[in-house]
Amino acid sequence: MAQVAEPSGSTSLALPTVGHWIGGAHVPGTSGRRGPVFDPATGAQTKWVDFASTAEVDAAVAAAEAAFPAWRSLSMSRRTDILFRIRNLVEQHRKELAGYLTAEHGKVPSDALGEIARGLENLEFACGVPHLIKGGFTEQASTGVDVYQIRQPLGVVAGITPFNFPAMVPMWMFANALACGNAFILKPSEKDPSASMFMAELLHEAGVPDGVFNVVQGDREAVDRVLEHPSIAAVSFVGSTPVARHVYETGTRNGKRVQALGGAKNHMLVLPDADIDMAADAAVSAAYGSSGERCMAIATVVAVGGVAEPLVEAIQARLAKVAVGPGSDPGAEMGPLVTRQHRDKVASYIDSAANQGATVLADGREHQLYRGSDGFFLGVSLIDHVTPGMDAYRDEIFGPVLTVVRVGSYEEALELINDNPYGNGTAIFTRDGGAARQFQFEVNVGMVGINVPIPVPVAYYSFGGWKASLFGDQHMYGPEGIQFYTRAKVVTSRWPDPGTSSVDLGFPRTR
Ligand code: NAD
Repeated sequence: MAQVAEPSGSTSLALPTVGHWIGGAHVPGTSGRRGPVFDPATGAQTKWVDFASTAEVDAAVAAAEAAFPAWRSLSMSRRTDILFRIRNLVEQHRKELAGYLTAEHGKVPSDALGEIARGLENLEFACGVPHLIKGGFTEQASTGVDVYQIRQPLGVVAGITPFNFPAMVPMWMFANALACGNAFILKPSEKDPSASMFMAELLHEAGVPDGVFNVVQGDREAVDRVLEHPSIAAVSFVGSTPVARHVYETGTRNGKRVQALGGAKNHMLVLPDADIDMAADAAVSAAYGSSGERCMAIATVVAVGGVAEPLVEAIQARLAKVAVGPGSDPGAEMGPLVTRQHRDKVASYIDSAANQGATVLADGREHQLYRGSDGFFLGVSLIDHVTPGMDAYRDEIFGPVLTVVRVGSYEEALELINDNPYGNGTAIFTRDGGAARQFQFEVNVGMVGINVPIPVPVAYYSFGGWKASLFGDQHMYGPEGIQFYTRAKVVTSRWPDPGTSSVDLGFPRTR
């Protein structure tokens, strides 16, 4: 977590500071702790971000608690009306929102707009909440007795989000949380905090009452207070696996409902009958899009049998055409990495793979922007003949480094994927429907693509991996998101006919 010593020059002290959003207004931080925000394309610090203290998190929770009763009591049609307005405002301001993503995350505008489009899907889904939240009704469960189930909001709920989708992942969470009648506290990544503040302003403009949506910026101190605060009923988390595990264990120990999505190592299995050009296009798009900083990025191509040679050649042929550059360059397809430290860590895997016996076919450090710019750039890297024992295979690299593992058979490929501790996404490339169906049946991964390299489910399904990619039992957004942010209440009701009333001390039976 980036909390740095303050540079002594007056320039950095004069930079704007991103604070919190509590009770429907901007609130400057008071903890005295803050971290730097960089423009990854130039390497320059552009802002500070305040880090919330325990007391500041408590203030946000108090605002949310105060706002919750009126928000949950609002009629379904009025709440839906506000959701439609949020959706429209985000859509209208999507270029401005994308600007914050490019400025602080570094992703190029087309990628930033794609992220927002996927987030909008979640807002659109949430607009259907009157239908989604309907319970069940059984008439005449017993004579004169009806039984029905209603779903009610949990109260104050919180979301903790990663740096790589500063707009979409918050929308995964708050769209359904608010739609279900909860008050929400967002703790965004400290690396790119401004998108959340802009979305808070849009929600305010849309008519979300003060205190229903709050943003606290910060680091572990804020997260730990969220996990301990007795008034927070549920926590959604997306980030790396060690932190996801910590969030799940601490949150559940404190009696909270928790869904914690972790890291990933996604394999793309290519069978010998696959269309080589299509598979190569998909591998390059899914490995290097967003500089590989996607939890659904393809990290490893698993090439079965004779497909390896032509496939690696086809991937390599495409690499020279990947345009790396800043978001301000309209031709750029791949931007910088989020921080210098992360860029250097990603680059270190190129050496470790070479040292451990892999073949480096493309080295991202040879791109002229790697040394020729102060931005956090790294070109595309391709590493062949990787084996499961190597660091480059074992670790989540989270950068523009594609590894290739060559295997002899489908069975060997399946075993490799199922043995991996992560189980977020995977894809199979083949023309054989039977093979694809068999893979879908037996692979231990939560999201599977068939000739689709990044199978992020549409908003009316739910998103979530298996194994070390998700702690908790409910996936995020979609129908499981509605389940997560509500609890069921079952009512058994009789409107008595005084003529049939009598004393009966027996255990209530259906009659
Ligand atoms: P991260 O785990 O470092 O941070 C995520 C959030 O947790 C941030 O808000 C951060 O401030 C907070 N945090 C960080 N360290 C903490 C600590 N020690 N204690 C408490 N809180 C802490 O993740 P990141 O680097 O921002 O994001 C990249 C990671 O997120 C990758 O591992 C990626 O695979 C994963 N990710 C997963 C999904 C998914 O859906 N499974 C989606 C996006 C990203």
